[in-house]
Amino acid sequence: MRSDRSATTGHERRWRKLETIEFDVVIIGGGAAGSVVASRLAADPDVRVCLIEAGPFGAEGERLPHPRNALKTEFDYDHPITSQIRGNSYVRHSGLSFRDCGFLPPPDDFTAWVAAGATGWSYDAMLPYWNRLAPVAASDRSPLAEDFVAACRTALGVPIRDDFNDGPFTDGAGFLPALAVPPSPDRDRPNLTILDETRAEHLDPSRGVTIRGDQLIRARYEYVLCAGAISTPILLLRSGIGPAAHLESDLGFEVRADLPGVGEHLLGHPASLIVWEPARPIPEADTAAGLFVRRDPALTGPDLAFRLSRTPGEITLTSAVPRPRGAGRLRLSGADPWGKPVLEQHPEAYDERTLVDGLRLAREVAATEPFASWITREITPGPELRGDDELAAYGRAAHHREQHPAGTCRIGAVVDPELRLHGFDNVRIADASVFPEMPSVDPAATVLMVAERAADLISQSFAAEKGQSSVAGNESKREGEQR
Ligand SMILES: Cc1cc2nc3c(=O)[nH]c(=O)nc-3n(C[C@H](O)[C@H](O)[C@H](O)COP(=O)(O)OP(=O)(O)OC[C@H]3O[C@@H](n4cnc5c(N)ncnc54)[C@H](O)[C@@H]3O)c2cc1C
Repeated sequence: MRSDRSATTGHERRWRKLETIEFDVVIIGGGAAGSVVASRLAADPDVRVCLIEAGPFGAEGERLPHPRNALKTEFDYDHPITSQIRGNSYVRHSGLSFRDCGFLPPPDDFTAWVAAGATGWSYDAMLPYWNRLAPVAASDRSPLAEDFVAACRTALGVPIRDDFNDGPFTDGAGFLPALAVPPSPDRDRPNLTILDETRAEHLDPSRGVTIRGDQLIRARYEYVLCAGAISTPILLLRSGIGPAAHLESDLGFEVRADLPGVGEHLLGHPASLIVWEPARPIPEADTAAGLFVRRDPALTGPDLAFRLSRTPGEITLTSAVPRPRGAGRLRLSGADPWGKPVLEQHPEAYDERTLVDGLRLAREVAATEPFASWITREITPGPELRGDDELAAYGRAAHHREQHPAGTCRIGAVVDPELRLHGFDNVRIADASVFPEMPSVDPAATVLMVAERAADLISQSFAAEKGQSSVAGNESKREGEQR
C-alpha cells in the first residue's frame, strides 16, 4: 500500500462495532496463505479468529482488484531495490496476492527443503496438501499460444505436455495449469472477524498486535504471520525481532530477540524478457503457455522456464531461472514505520548465463513457424544485440524477479519445522517467507500447501491446548468441589 489505508471511514465503522479485542488466533495478512489459514481455522466454530489485512476485501470476501490489473496502482506495495552494481536497479517486488498458474513442485524441491533443515517437509508429506487444491478447466486457448507451443516443439524438440502437473518433467511446451482460487474467508461466520484496510504495525507476542497507532489485538493462543516474504520480515524487524546489529546500530531499536536470519536469503526467480511487435491483432483468449528446457542433462528437471504473455501491441516471452543460485536480503531503511525496505539482490554468474541462454532460445522459437508469422520484429533487446556480453548486459538491465519473493524467514534459520518463530511459542509464520529454498516452479501452489499444513499444525496444537485447559478446568472444579 502506498498510503495508510487504515484510517478510512469504512474501517472506523467496523472498528466501533468490534466488541472484543481478544481472539484465540490472530492472523496478519489475508493474501494467498492468510486466506487459507483463516478459512480453515474458522471452520471450527470453537476457534475465534481475527484476520488483519492491509488491503480491502470485496463484498463477497474476494480480494480486489485482480492483481494482474493492480500492478502500479495504489494496491501495489511496489518495493524498490537498492542500486545494483551488476543488475537492474529498477526491480520492483510486488506484495500482491495472485493465484493464477499453479504448479506442483517436483520431489527434488522438497528434498532440498529437508536438506536445508525443514524436517518432515518431504514430498510425500506435502502431497496431501496439493490434493486439497483444485485444478481448473482450461479456458479458451489462443491460437497465438497454440502456434507458440508448436514452434517450441519444432525449434527445440521438446515434447508437448497436456498437463504439467501429472508428474515431474524435464522439459516440454504447453498451456500452463491453473488452480482454483482457494476458499475466501467467510465474513458471515460469527467466529471470524476480518479487519481489512488495517495494517499490523507492531507485534509484541506477550501483549498483542498494534493497529492504528494504539489499538491492541490480542491472541490467546497464537499469532500467525502471513504478510508475505517482504512484509513479514518488515513487521518482525519493526517489532525488534531480527539481526541485533541491524536493529541496534542501523535503526536504534530495542532488540526483543536476536534472530540473524530475519530478512536474509531473499529468494526469487530471476527473469528477463524478449518483446516482439505482433504482425496482426492478437485474440483475447488465454495466452498462458509455457516452455521448459533442460540444458544440463544431469538435472532431474528443467533449468530454463519461459512464459508467453501479451499486452496491447506486444508479444512477450519471459525467461526465468527455475533453480537460481543467487539470493538477496531485506533490511529496514530507517525507523520510519512506513519507509520502504532496502532490498538487495546478490547476482550470480550462473543466473546471468541462464538468462543469456534464455534470450537465444527465445529467438530460435520466434524464427520458427507457425509462431514466426505472428511477429513483425523484435522490439527488445533488438536484433542488433547478439554477443554474449551484450545480451548479459541487457539481461541484467531488464532483469526482474517474477514477483516471487520468498525465503526471508526460512524454516531452520527463523522458524522451526512446525513454523514457530524461534524463541516464541505463540508466533508462527505461514507464507512464502518460510521457504528454505526456492521451488523450481511458480510458487503460489507451494504457498497454499504451506498454508494448509500450517492450518493443520495450528488446529492440532489448539485442540491440545484446549484439551489441557479443559482438563485443568475440570481439575480445579473438582478441587473446588472437594473443598
Ligand atoms: C502480479 C503477480 C502475478 C503472479 N503470478 C503468479 C502465478 O501465475 N503463479 C504463481 O504461482 N505465483 C504468482 N505470483 C506469486 C504469488 O502471488 C505469491 O507467491 C503469493 O501470493 C505469496 O503468498 P503469500 O501469502 O506469501 O503473500 P501474499 O499473497 O502477498 O499475501 C500477503 C498479504 O499480507 C498483506 N499485508 C502485508 N503487510 C501487512 C501488514 N503489515 N498488516 C496486514 N496485512 C499485511 C498484504 O496486503 C497481502 O494481502 C504472482 C505475483 C504477482 C504480484
